[in-house]
Amino acid sequence: MPKYDLEKIRFATDAPTFQKAAALYESGKIHNFQFAGAGYTATVLGSSPYQVYVSDRSYDQGSCTCYLGQNDTLCKHMVAVAIWAVTKGKRMSEEDKQTASEPVSSGKIGILSKQDLLAIKKSITEGMRYIKSYSGPSRIWFAYQNSLDEGCARLSEIVSKLPVSPQTAEILLDMLLRLDAKLSSSGVDDSNGTVGGFMEGVVKILLEFARLDSRCKLSFRKLKGKETSFGWEDPLLAQFNT
Ligand SMILES: [Zn+2]
Repeated sequence: MPKYDLEKIRFATDAPTFQKAAALYESGKIHNFQFAGAGYTATVLGSSPYQVYVSDRSYDQGSCTCYLGQNDTLCKHMVAVAIWAVTKGKRMSEEDKQTASEPVSSGKIGILSKQDLLAIKKSITEGMRYIKSYSGPSRIWFAYQNSLDEGCARLSEIVSKLPVSPQTAEILLDMLLRLDAKLSSSGVDDSNGTVGGFMEGVVKILLEFARLDSRCKLSFRKLKGKETSFGWEDPLLAQFNT
C-alpha cells in the first residue's frame, strides 16, 4: 500500500498538473502498472509512451522519461501513476477530481451540528499543520512553499463548504487569528504570499457572511484593538461599526 492517498495527491499537486493527470488516468492511458520494489512502474501513453516510476513513500519521488521528468520536475505522468496506485483503476468521483481554488462562500444559511462542528475544527487544525515555520536550507525552499500551498488548499476546501451563520463566522475568525499568529510570530515565511492571499479570501467570505446574515457582524467584535500582520481586519471592523 502506498504511504499517500488520493487527498494527498489532490491537495499537494498544482491544479493544472493534477487535472491533466486525472484525465490521463480516466482515459485509460496507463498501461502495465506493476509493483516494483519500493514503488510502481507503468507505461503512460502521451505524445509517445513514457516509462514512469513512482515511489510508494512519496508520490513526487520517482522518474519519467518525458522532458519534465528528465529535468527532475513532477510531471502529469508520475501523478497519473500515483493516482492508479491509490485508486487501483477505480473510477474517480467528481469530488476526487476537485482541485483547490480560491476560498468562496457556500452562500447557504445554516449551522453545523455539534458533531460536524468538532469534525470541522479537527480538519482545520490538520490543515494548519502544513503552514509551518521555515528553518531549513534554501534547497528545501520549494518543498516548504509546497507545504504552505497544500495547507491553504486543504483549508480552502473546508471553508468553502461551511454554511453561513454566526457559528461558522466564529470558526473563520479564529482560523484567521491563528494564521495571523503564525505569520507574525511563528516563523512562517510567506514570501510567496500564499497564506496572505488565502486570508484575504477568507475575509471576503466573512464580508459575504455579514451580508447574508447581519448577526455575523457581532463576532467581528473580537478584532477590536488587535494589531494584525497586514491589516486584514480593517474591512471587517468597518462592518462591525456600521
Ligand atoms: Zn512525465
